[in-house]
Amino acid sequence: MLRLQTPGNGDVVDITEGVQRIVDGAGVRRGLATAFAVGSTVAVTTMEYEPGGVSDLQALLERLVPQRGDYEHNRLAGDSNSHAHQRASLIGPSVTVPISDGRLTLGTWQQIVLIDFDDRPRDRTINVHVVS
Ligand code: ZN
Repeated sequence: MLRLQTPGNGDVVDITEGVQRIVDGAGVRRGLATAFAVGSTVAVTTMEYEPGGVSDLQALLERLVPQRGDYEHNRLAGDSNSHAHQRASLIGPSVTVPISDGRLTLGTWQQIVLIDFDDRPRDRTINVHVVS
């Protein structure tokens, strides 16, 4: 399990090292690792984690699902984060990565990232399960 704090608002966190550390601890040479973020306003995916890529992804999601919009969730639930729920559903809560020779088989320019879409700081939990 990984735990971290984020400022929310589309913050992108590289969790690759943390997931690899759990794979190392499990001692699995060949298998699968799943990283699952707990919560309905947070997502996990892979990307090239560098400032330009992060900025472009944040801009894309703002174009697709603007923070300010006419959302039923905000109206009916008295909430302000419907955009965060929609973005999280769009990207999804988890990734599964094959393990080979004890390493996550990610590309050189491919990192596992958590994206926190909520509109306030959050404590986040990522359940990482390793199977051989
Ligand atoms: Zn909500």
